[in-house]
Amino acid sequence: RVGSAFHIKKLQDQLQQRNAELDRISRTDGLTGLFNRRHLDEELTRRNTDSLRHGEAMCVLLLDLDHFKHINDAYGHPAGDLVLRAFADRMRHGLRAGDIAGRWGGEEFLIILPRTDLAGAIEVAERIRSATAVQAVTAQGREISVRVSGGCALGPADSVEALVQLADQCLYRAKDSGRNRIITA
Ligand code: GH3
Ligand code: MG
Ligand code: MG
Repeated sequence: RVGSAFHIKKLQDQLQQRNAELDRISRTDGLTGLFNRRHLDEELTRRNTDSLRHGEAMCVLLLDLDHFKHINDAYGHPAGDLVLRAFADRMRHGLRAGDIAGRWGGEEFLIILPRTDLAGAIEVAERIRSATAVQAVTAQGREISVRVSGGCALGPADSVEALVQLADQCLYRAKDSGRNRIITA
């Protein structure tokens, strides 16, 4: 009886471990290893609610690689993938513990900065923007220069949709005014 109880316990542990692994995979972007859209959506709601409840500032940062279509066209799709990976690594480096970064889709990335005001968010965004601009990505022996534009919105807001939309409007303005820059709301 002890033997079979032991066996069952082992199976339960394995199942728990597999479930945890599946949960992690379901929240991860396969290409970059960052969080995916699904996890970002959850976190946006959670952080916005927390922020409202505690009366604390938070920021949402939307980053989009500049002329990425051109990078794909000039160097090929696999090189484009490599650029996305390299950018994700740089982004990770520029963040602090507690910041939540993910791939919003395609060549767009979203970062949630809890307990952060606009000045703090600009610092983070500029760090990522400049680190991206100064160091080219090497792919298949070729140097690819990469630029990124960003929009930054201060929350909390009545709805997360409104907050993301605000960041998106700023991003649009960053693109419209010459790219390789961060615009805040
Ligand atoms: P802008 O500066 O205005 O953002 O121009 P852009 O070229 O970056 O924007 P656009 O939306 O025209 O093109 C985005 C491109 O990103 C098109 C799409 O094929 C490419 N892309 C999206 N996802 C991936 C991916 O996972 N890998 C690669 N290699 N390319 C991708
Ligand atoms: Mg782009
Ligand atoms: Mg885009």
